Amino acid sequence: MACKATAISNLRPLVICGPSGSGKSSLLVKLMCEYPSKFGFCASHTTRNRREGEINGIHYRFTNVHDMQKAISEGKFIETAEYGGNLYGTSKEEVAKITNRGMMCILDVEVNGVRQIKKSDLNPWYIFIQPPSIEELERRLRSRRTETEESLKERLRIAKNEIEYGLEPGNFDKIIVNDEFDSAYEELKAFVDENILEKETE
Ligand code: ADP
Repeated sequence: MACKATAISNLRPLVICGPSGSGKSSLLVKLMCEYPSKFGFCASHTTRNRREGEINGIHYRFTNVHDMQKAISEGKFIETAEYGGNLYGTSKEEVAKITNRGMMCILDVEVNGVRQIKKSDLNPWYIFIQPPSIEELERRLRSRRTETEESLKERLRIAKNEIEYGLEPGNFDKIIVNDEFDSAYEELKAFVDENILEKETE
């Protein structure tokens, strides 16, 4: 008897975490292309400059320091972080917008964001994307051509701490090593199929 993934069993959000350059965006884009009606990406707010090709409201909600600090003081964020001199955060309103549409909300957050979310009542699934090695992470960040030499060094330094937290038992429901992209994606899809999408027998 065939088994087919058909419906979302609940609306627990999905938190994807991993060092910058570990492949979170690439994996998420593929997942959302495969399940366009099931997942909605929660664009973080950020005060950092928009990179070429990034669309406001899709990749991030670009804002300024004054507005962001005001919203933070009003308790409008689930988690916030300062990274590379810029502010980032997940707003409660963005998550609610997606959940209210009956879609599962995907959050792409740093380790400190995970720590804060764990203290909130969001109760998501947690997945950690692990790079195969620091050397490979550096190669990928360089080939992405989005970093200055200084920010690259900073990202690699932070990555070491993030990997330590990611591998600590109990912090994540699933750890995926993104060595070969297609295999990593299959692992992500298998986790989503098993745990998140309801199985219905035909
Ligand atoms: P993140 O969203 O975690 O910062 P990205 O998805 O932007 O990471 O990936 C960083 C870079 O690494 C991109 O240029 C991407 O194409 C590349 N990449 C991602 N996964 C792999 C992989 N398994 N093998 C080789 N390159 C990869």
